[in-house]
Amino acid sequence: MDIIHLLPDSVANQIAAGEVIQRPASCLKELVENSLDAGASRIQVIVYDAGRTMLQVIDDGSGMSETDARMAFERHATSKIQSAQDLFSLRTMGFRGEALASICAVAQVEVQTRRKEDEIGTFLEIAGSDVIRQEACLCPVGTNFKVKNLFFNVPVRRKFLKTDQTELRNLLTEFYHIVLVYPHVQFTFVSNDEVLMELPAGTEKQRIEAVFGKGNKAYTGNLVDIKSDTELVSIRGFVGKPEAASKNAQQYFFVNGRYMRHAYFHKAVMTAYSGMVPGDYNPSYFIYFDINPQWIDVNIHPTKTEIKFQDEQTIFQIVLATVREALGKFNIAPSLDFDRAGEIEMPTSTKQVADIPKVVFDPNYNPFHPTSARARDNYKGWETLYPSGSNIPTKPTYEQQKEDLFETSLSEVQPYTYRGKYIFVPYRAGLFIVNHHRAHIRVLYEQYQHQIRDQKGVSQQLLFPELLELNTEDMKLVDTLLSDLRYVGFELEQFSKNSYNIVGIPALLSVDHAVATLNKIIHCVRETGISAQQQWEEQIALSLAEDTAIPYGKKLTDEEAHDLIERLFALSNYRVLPDGKVIVCEWKVEELDSRF
Ligand code: ADP
Ligand code: MG
Repeated sequence: MDIIHLLPDSVANQIAAGEVIQRPASCLKELVENSLDAGASRIQVIVYDAGRTMLQVIDDGSGMSETDARMAFERHATSKIQSAQDLFSLRTMGFRGEALASICAVAQVEVQTRRKEDEIGTFLEIAGSDVIRQEACLCPVGTNFKVKNLFFNVPVRRKFLKTDQTELRNLLTEFYHIVLVYPHVQFTFVSNDEVLMELPAGTEKQRIEAVFGKGNKAYTGNLVDIKSDTELVSIRGFVGKPEAASKNAQQYFFVNGRYMRHAYFHKAVMTAYSGMVPGDYNPSYFIYFDINPQWIDVNIHPTKTEIKFQDEQTIFQIVLATVREALGKFNIAPSLDFDRAGEIEMPTSTKQVADIPKVVFDPNYNPFHPTSARARDNYKGWETLYPSGSNIPTKPTYEQQKEDLFETSLSEVQPYTYRGKYIFVPYRAGLFIVNHHRAHIRVLYEQYQHQIRDQKGVSQQLLFPELLELNTEDMKLVDTLLSDLRYVGFELEQFSKNSYNIVGIPALLSVDHAVATLNKIIHCVRETGISAQQQWEEQIALSLAEDTAIPYGKKLTDEEAHDLIERLFALSNYRVLPDGKVIVCEWKVEELDSRF
């Protein structure tokens, strides 16, 4: 007996639908993308019960003719491509002609649509792929899609849906991905008769503010513009100022008008922030890539958000450099427009401060005196002084910073060392608690980087060379690092095919640590990848700083403590280490007062 038979159409459609329509959010995406493809300037999304009972999308786009309205629900019916070749130059959202066929296979659908040139529109009612009713109707230009009782005929899928709360969150997430790319289109989102989002047409920045600022203008005040045009890719958008970093940051990449996830480029952005943001805080970013569609892997699967680029390494470097440049410009004079956000619990990495109850750390707080006129002027300066594209290596003077932090001259401040670990430093607005080991790492890290840049470091010659043995691969790596190592004080001479003689080491390093420190540097550089010279210079500076900094447990003399804080507070970034560890936390006078 033959056992193979064809599945009925309705079953085949349901199965295929499963790929495209997994939840109400996928319906929303498909319908709104169609509206955008139809050139709509106003789109309304209306849902009941997180789209479970009803999801409606109304647009003022091109509308459809009577025949097209009927055709649109056929599988592989699309007005957007003619041949497979077109796939590679495609810039519209949908193109598989599957979405409507999939939706109507698993829901009850009603559509009203009219083109500008027609006086009468078309009304269609479809359920489980069967046309139930078709008639002429009076309706506005555009298309009005109503999807009712999603998965009414597929109980398994219905059961698979999460709580309304979760599904609503999914809907909004999908909605954000779209509205952030189409700021010139007006959107409304209504859930159970409540208007959740009312987004007027505007600029990208206004859109971001309307979505995430919730009436708080300060939100976009904390975004810095980025822009870079290369032959390979154009990048523009906004990145958050480091001090506005938070635990629930908004991070978005878009490519050619579509949301995408990209772990590798994400790493590029994070690398640009390294050393500026405490460990468990994240900066926000909204970055838009524009690239020739031929250079990305065409996203054949509509539900996929990961995209593969050709030449990702180069783009990584472009992203890193672009974000870094934007932040660097802005670092020249630390920003001062602080609406101080609520106080934030101190990151756990500093929980060693166990003796002092409830120390709060506010990364948004700026220690500059809030009414300092000069500081204000500085702030206005950075955006206007450095038009995008210029990269002027201006050295800031942080004398002003010290002056603003400490009412008196720093030499009159009396630091108090505590438990071979902390230094208490009174300042204008309260009390700083400085972790002396980390403070010294920060100071040395800057110093070593300067030495590399200026190509001069202080070296101590060894009477008896130490031997550094390496495998072939690391020999090659060290070969590329030799000059940078020399600039921080390491002098290496090749001894054999697989070893170097260490004949000189940085002044502050002890001989016993020489080999271990070099091995650590090699390891770290290998980890970060040897593609970016700047990164490995930072890595060398950091590893060395860690190994030469004053250790915990060492009791500092008053003079040493003084010297250390004097040098620390002269740095633009005295708050966190490059790996995000907190150097300084503070206790403000008001907090002290509130305890009595
Ligand atoms: P695709 O978008 O991949 O072409 P869909 O199944 O999403 O496939 O839509 C099929 C066709 O229906 C589209 O190509 C378009 O011609 C038409 N269509 C769908 N939605 C709308 C709309 N809101 N306005 C005008 N035409 C639409
Ligand atoms: Mg579509």
